Amino acid sequence: MDKEIDWHGVRDEVAGYLQDLIRIDTTNPPGNERVAAEYISGVLTREGFRTALTESAPGRGNVTTRLSGGAGEPLLLLGHTDVVATDAPHWTHPPFSGALVDGYIWGRGALDMKNMVAAELMVMLLLKRTGARPDRDVIFAATADEEAGKGEHGPGWLLDHHPEQIEAPVILTEGGGHDVVVGARRFTTCQVGQKGICRMKVTARGRPGHGSVPHGDNAVLALCAALAPLQRAQLPLHASATMRAFLEGVAIGQPEALAADLRAVLDPAESDAALVRLPIDADTRAQWGSLLRNTASVTMLQAGTKINVIPSEASAWVDGRLAPGATQDGFLKELRALVGDDVEFEVDQYNPPLEASAEGGLYDVIADRMGHHDPDAPVIPSLSTGGTDAKHIVPRRPGTQVYGFMPYRQQPGLEEMQLIHGHDERTSVEELSFATRVLYDIVVHYTHCETQQQETK
Ligand SMILES: [Zn+2]
Repeated sequence: MDKEIDWHGVRDEVAGYLQDLIRIDTTNPPGNERVAAEYISGVLTREGFRTALTESAPGRGNVTTRLSGGAGEPLLLLGHTDVVATDAPHWTHPPFSGALVDGYIWGRGALDMKNMVAAELMVMLLLKRTGARPDRDVIFAATADEEAGKGEHGPGWLLDHHPEQIEAPVILTEGGGHDVVVGARRFTTCQVGQKGICRMKVTARGRPGHGSVPHGDNAVLALCAALAPLQRAQLPLHASATMRAFLEGVAIGQPEALAADLRAVLDPAESDAALVRLPIDADTRAQWGSLLRNTASVTMLQAGTKINVIPSEASAWVDGRLAPGATQDGFLKELRALVGDDVEFEVDQYNPPLEASAEGGLYDVIADRMGHHDPDAPVIPSLSTGGTDAKHIVPRRPGTQVYGFMPYRQQPGLEEMQLIHGHDERTSVEELSFATRVLYDIVVHYTHCETQQQETK
């Protein structure tokens, strides 16, 4: 039972899985995740797992497996195998090479998120090899279609068509684990929430006419005038439970003035000025500002087809993001207050904001185990401006607690957020191996199999 884990060997093994996964081109669209699913299924089957491989559409493969345990409610380790497009000429090493150079594995997906898929796969193998007896089933699912469009071929599809494969009230996936430095202190985020999405078309109508005879009812100008306030004004502050806990967490142990500024960020009257005083860079400031409110970005425009014709209609697409607690109606009201009533709104995608509990359960185990492995960077709950697959799961299974945690400590000059979806995405084998160890430890403790395991550090 107490089989020793050779962490040195694990490091090479998990690195190998990541390299292999990167070499399978799963650029979405079109995806082709089936090849990655078959690869993962092969690794699992060789070690005695039974896997289920399903196709949600031709080539869109999902693979799941489980380690049976006691009667507790299952834990799901979830990862997506698709990646975003690459612009190969800009890469130092080809994006699907999986090249291992000076301790880094290069390629698309090295950080988002074939690294975590490889680590989760490794955790499953280790549980099996050590004869772990979890107090609940541990499910692993490597799924398609997170990165593009509406994500119709991944975990949402599985829940609709094969719910028995992945049904679990608690999920561990991507989205957190980065470190954040504020003042002299470093923290590790655990993503517990994500903003909602409300994408819409905004249309102004006017009177058509000849370009040689301007009139006062030009749809293009009406649209511009309606949207112009978005350049200067922000939507109102919404301090969600997650942002309160995040700022409170960052404030602990800080000098008094800095702690006061961090708390003042939650006060509508002081928020903007307090944000400016914080010792964070401009990108982080913009990020925090967005996390504290609903936001609306105009991203696409369409009007007219000829230079000499005044069109009767002009449209813009607005990418709206909702803070936890906000609703679609509330967001539209806030937006109306800025852009007025002269334009039409047509919502074409809505995903509600999500927030899991940052107290007890898996969250506490993550904080405890990460605290054990990296005591200098306490875990704090975080909210994301973007979304993960949680948005396809929680609306179908309300109450599901989804946590994003893949430990990754920033390497100087290699900020994770700039590499994700960017050129030269790569990850350090050291960090991958560290993360695998932490994730294994989290699963072992959460499912109470530690009594049969040797200490993992
Ligand atoms: Zn991702």
